[in-house]
Amino acid sequence: MTHFAADLATTDPLVAQALTRERARQQEQIELIASENIVSRAVREVLGHEITNKTLEGYPGARFHGGGINVDIVETAAIDRAKALFHCDYANVQPHSGSQANLAVFFLLLKPGDRVLSLDLAAGGHLSHGLGANLSGRWFEAHHYGVDPRTEVIDYDALEAQALALRPKLLIAGGSAYPRRLDFVRLGQIARAAGAWLHVDMAHIAGLVAGGAHPSPFPHADIVTATTTKTLRGPRGGLILTNNPDWMKRLQSAVFPGVQGSIHTQVIAAKAVCLAEAQRPAFRTYAAQVVANARVLADTLAARGLRIVTGGTDSHLVLVDVGSRGLLGRQAEAVLEAANITANKNPIPRDRPRPPDWVGLRLGTGAATTRGLREAETAQLAGLIADLLDAEAQGRAESTIPYARDAVSALCRAFSAG
Ligand SMILES: *Cc1c(COP(=O)(O)O)cnc(C)c1O
Repeated sequence: MTHFAADLATTDPLVAQALTRERARQQEQIELIASENIVSRAVREVLGHEITNKTLEGYPGARFHGGGINVDIVETAAIDRAKALFHCDYANVQPHSGSQANLAVFFLLLKPGDRVLSLDLAAGGHLSHGLGANLSGRWFEAHHYGVDPRTEVIDYDALEAQALALRPKLLIAGGSAYPRRLDFVRLGQIARAAGAWLHVDMAHIAGLVAGGAHPSPFPHADIVTATTTKTLRGPRGGLILTNNPDWMKRLQSAVFPGVQGSIHTQVIAAKAVCLAEAQRPAFRTYAAQVVANARVLADTLAARGLRIVTGGTDSHLVLVDVGSRGLLGRQAEAVLEAANITANKNPIPRDRPRPPDWVGLRLGTGAATTRGLREAETAQLAGLIADLLDAEAQGRAESTIPYARDAVSALCRAFSAG
């Protein structure tokens, strides 16, 4: 068969079979990895569209190649929708990922060797905020702030003292495993007092901000990055937002040709669709439900005697100290996976450095809420998680897994993943 006629199963049975199994896996497992979600059919339709064939560099109306008329329409729509959704004057929808968006911000605002101050990885920070093994840590002088050892919430007074002493060029807020509301007012004050720009990386919470379930970083942040992937429920990719008129033109070139070449046309079109979806009233309901479910998850696990880092959550994310049950994060991850519940081990504040020794389990409600789980089903799911962790801790997981897996199957059949 020809290039145009042969379907995937004919062209590449290996990949076709893996995709078929992946679809089944997504139906059969409850996804609690906090950075995941389930995109709409419309978003998927766009990602598989022929628009992927189009190569373009530059921006709408100022491209380096011809034939961009339709891509200009969708990129302009994505930009307009991002600005409207997040109430800001400038949006760049081209970053290929959240990490690329951050890199472009660094390229705009920093020179090699400049000082940045960001949330410690063990306290929930992100590797692109100055981890030694990441370019951000190699090329900039990265310092980290932590959380109050007692409350595990960001200690803003300590952060202020540290920022005033260090005088970083950039103060970065946001992370991948910080369950509590960020105090953008206070962060803005601290940044200004220290003579730093405030960069809010709202990768995890962008959907909650869009849906009104978390305060907006504007007008306190100088610059904001996000992913469209996580709670925003769109394609894999990044966004950069700002209100600073001096940066708008420079941000265009910081992304292209600063850190990227041609755009991922199909992803930009899918971003436009997810941003329109996020403008609808139903998305506000979704965002509120995500947080309500996370609260039920945290409360139910706490009632079963598991220690919840920070004592609870204000977002989609629940960080469980499974060390409080005598378990390691990897053991918890494995026993949940055996029952078709997907989650990941994670460090908790002041955890041991090696991933196999971590005692945190990170859970998030973004994807399960998209399936339609509400408080009652989330409480049931939390009960199953507690049963599995108890059984694992007592060395009798084998006898608990089948019952938990059956209960998860019933939930999965009742709440389809697409
Ligand atoms: C997920 C995440 C990113 C990066 O996203 P990628 O798209 O995986 O590069 C950046 N910052 C934070 C805080 C994140 O959670």
